[in-house]
Amino acid sequence: MSSVTWKLLNNPITRALASPLSVDDYLSQFNPLWSVGDVRGRIERVERETADAVTLYISPNSHWAGHVAGQHLVLGVEIEGVRHSRCFSISSAPGDTGITVTVKRNGDGLVSNYLVDRAQAGEVLFLSQARGEFLLPDGNAPLLMISGGSGITPLMAMLRELVHQGREADVVFLHYSNSYADTIFHGELRALAERFDWLNLKLVISNGAAVEGDHSGLFSAGQLDELVPDVAERVALLCGPPPLMDRVNDAFLAKGRDKPAQEQFQVRITAAAGEGRVSFSRSGLEAAGDAAPNLLELAEQQGLNPPHGCRMGICQGCKCRITQGQVRDLRNGEVRDVQDEEIQLCVHTAAGAVSVEL
Ligand SMILES: Cc1cc2nc3c(=O)[nH]c(=O)nc-3n(C[C@H](O)[C@H](O)[C@H](O)COP(=O)(O)OP(=O)(O)OC[C@H]3O[C@@H](n4cnc5c(N)ncnc54)[C@H](O)[C@@H]3O)c2cc1C
Repeated sequence: MSSVTWKLLNNPITRALASPLSVDDYLSQFNPLWSVGDVRGRIERVERETADAVTLYISPNSHWAGHVAGQHLVLGVEIEGVRHSRCFSISSAPGDTGITVTVKRNGDGLVSNYLVDRAQAGEVLFLSQARGEFLLPDGNAPLLMISGGSGITPLMAMLRELVHQGREADVVFLHYSNSYADTIFHGELRALAERFDWLNLKLVISNGAAVEGDHSGLFSAGQLDELVPDVAERVALLCGPPPLMDRVNDAFLAKGRDKPAQEQFQVRITAAAGEGRVSFSRSGLEAAGDAAPNLLELAEQQGLNPPHGCRMGICQGCKCRITQGQVRDLRNGEVRDVQDEEIQLCVHTAAGAVSVEL
């Protein structure tokens, strides 16, 4: 459709005529990818990476504005008629056709299990624009990329981007995996390391024996010094499960260095009961602050459907204005007064009377 058509569809008169449905509700009857402004993408194919991980090849609609290697998106999928959203790093490089996300099963987690077991070609996903600041550093400093498990995804996008750019970047790629069978992108990593002298692959098998040339064991400061003797000269990038990230961060701090640039897939959230009453100013609803673990779930309990993404304080998808009140940040327990300020509902609870603009 031309941009004129989109403009015609996205004007107040058309919106009023479509009410109580949205213009998108009508458009999706013709083509589920059509929307007046939202990014949607069709799964073109699903490729199995390991027993527990798949890569989804997605063609986004024309609203997709592109991405930079290392960024993530919020992906919404309908499961049993309910839309659920989670963040996923984009594992493809910007020059690739379409975009890919690579999803690993996360325990009994809802969305990862659905995508790994049931996602199919033809299915339409609801996407955000790409976001995030975990990017390749400027300049030509030698790099150290450290990843574990599914944390390889944003770093793989960066590696692919370096290959696209033909940039001989001097990369040590230190990847931790439970076993060879669990190693996402194993074949491609080996092939790239074979092809490019500037890429030094160090594959570490944490849970079993490694073949000659690879390594085994868990990350330790001693292993880092042994595998990357010039670590002091390298700009480090990190993404992996929290225990690996903690160990790497500690090792860098012990060396008197800053923590590496990093992407977290999970954040530790403390459980602290809410207090006081929460009023939702637009809908006129009210609830006790202790009725749900955070303000996002409290709003949902009232039947409200605020936009959200990762539900763990990373993606900013649930930011919402607090007109007035006291809130507690569940990541560090800090209580503060807020007035006309946007906060992430998923990692805050009420610490007194709060008025949320919903
Ligand atoms: C910036 C960013 C990028 C990311 N990129 C990727 C990526 O590239 N690839 C990838 O695979 N993941 C990625 N993630 C993680 C992803 O967003 C999801 O968090 C992950 O897939 C789990 O979602 P889920 O719906 O499967 O689990 P959820 O349903 O949200 O559950 C989360 C965890 O809680 C456990 N759980 C659920 N319910 C209960 C319960 N009642 N009791 C006890 N435990 C329970 C589950 O077993 C699971 O381990 C990224 C996250 C962020 C923030």
